[in-house]
Amino acid sequence: MKPLSVPSAAHAGRKPGGNGLGRTASVAPASGADIFAKARQFTRLSEVQAMGLYPYFVPIESSTSTEVVVGGRRIVMVGSNNYLGLNHDPRVMQAAQDAIAKYGTACTGSRFLNGNTDLHERIEARLATLTGKEAALVFSTGFQTNLGVIATLVTKNDVVLIDKLDHASIVDGCRLSAGETIRFRHNDMDDLEAKLRRVRGRAALIVVDGVFSMEGDIVDLPSVVELSAKYDARVAVDDAHSVGVLGPTGAGTAEHFGLTDEVDLIIGTFSKSFASIGGFVAGEGVVIDYLKHHARSEIFSASMPPSACAAVLACIDILEQEPERRLQLWENAERMRKGFRSLGFETGGSVTPIIPVVIGDDLATFEFWKRLFDGGVFTNPVVAPAVPERESRIRTSYSATHTSDQLDFVLDVFARVGKSMGIIS
Ligand code: PMP
Repeated sequence: MKPLSVPSAAHAGRKPGGNGLGRTASVAPASGADIFAKARQFTRLSEVQAMGLYPYFVPIESSTSTEVVVGGRRIVMVGSNNYLGLNHDPRVMQAAQDAIAKYGTACTGSRFLNGNTDLHERIEARLATLTGKEAALVFSTGFQTNLGVIATLVTKNDVVLIDKLDHASIVDGCRLSAGETIRFRHNDMDDLEAKLRRVRGRAALIVVDGVFSMEGDIVDLPSVVELSAKYDARVAVDDAHSVGVLGPTGAGTAEHFGLTDEVDLIIGTFSKSFASIGGFVAGEGVVIDYLKHHARSEIFSASMPPSACAAVLACIDILEQEPERRLQLWENAERMRKGFRSLGFETGGSVTPIIPVVIGDDLATFEFWKRLFDGGVFTNPVVAPAVPERESRIRTSYSATHTSDQLDFVLDVFARVGKSMGIIS
């Protein structure tokens, strides 16, 4: 996108100087080296806003599991990660309310000192069983889980090998770690092997997403596991988009491939299938105990609120009791993938309920997003650097609770917008 150099409204017309209330934000330090310079040079926001195409931080006024109200208008939501559609399930909502009545709204401290409840521990026991691991540890978000696990386990002289399309929280976990980070090409097992060969003999951890969040493809876990055995590396799979989605019981990617025992750590989040917030890691008891007493993002951050814990427990019950939800999710996803492809859209390597529609150019993607939004469909535009240059896309994802009418409506709006913009014929 060409910079239009439109100054951000917050800075336009503001005169330097004091206002009687202390130093104003617009006075640059005398040295000329201003830590805020990058913020003033960030004009992309105002450019896109000026074009009326700004697609982020959309304020939702109310919601159901498949629709949101924005500006008083009902819009079909296909930009969420509500795979099982449980965020408005009456049982989940009731469980959260009951927990507030019993424990209050927050724990006001970290689990380590004063913010641990029996609910946190029940989740850990349930997740250890679900994932087929000895033990599990709950964190306050999935992001913090990756930070804590990687930074704690990968220390000086160790190596962490990550897929180039791994989630930002994995990348940031590597940045926090004192070990060496090596990236391999997306799902490219030859590249992974070449890199493992180079670090042979050093303690190594391979971290992959189970389902890649912007592509909707699945990691080649059988090959990752085979290489990890050959080169004595440990394997961690981030199952944020796979728990509740993949595997005969919804236990995730390892279960999907029948490789539960071969994967050392299963990492997940509660912000998607489990309709809540929080994260977890499951694995060998001794490793979980070590993380519990060393992971800084666990020890120095407040614990998940009890209402969020209770929601997770209710979702695990439903996942176990109602496998038909997962089947419906897959039926909805297949219907949409087929629908997009038959309309002529490019959906990349998607084979899961995450279905990107590749548009190409940034601005065209924002324009496409806006027309979908105006047409009543809520999606996520994803541009570089989150995806490669010229591969900007509209990311869509589906719920078990989307109705056939809603899905047909989404396809109709995509067809209309795609034709009007010349993306499909
Ligand atoms: N890992 C992956 C693959 C994710 O997609 C996300 C969230 N989008 C996270 C981790 C972080 O999870 P949370 O939202 O619980 O912080």
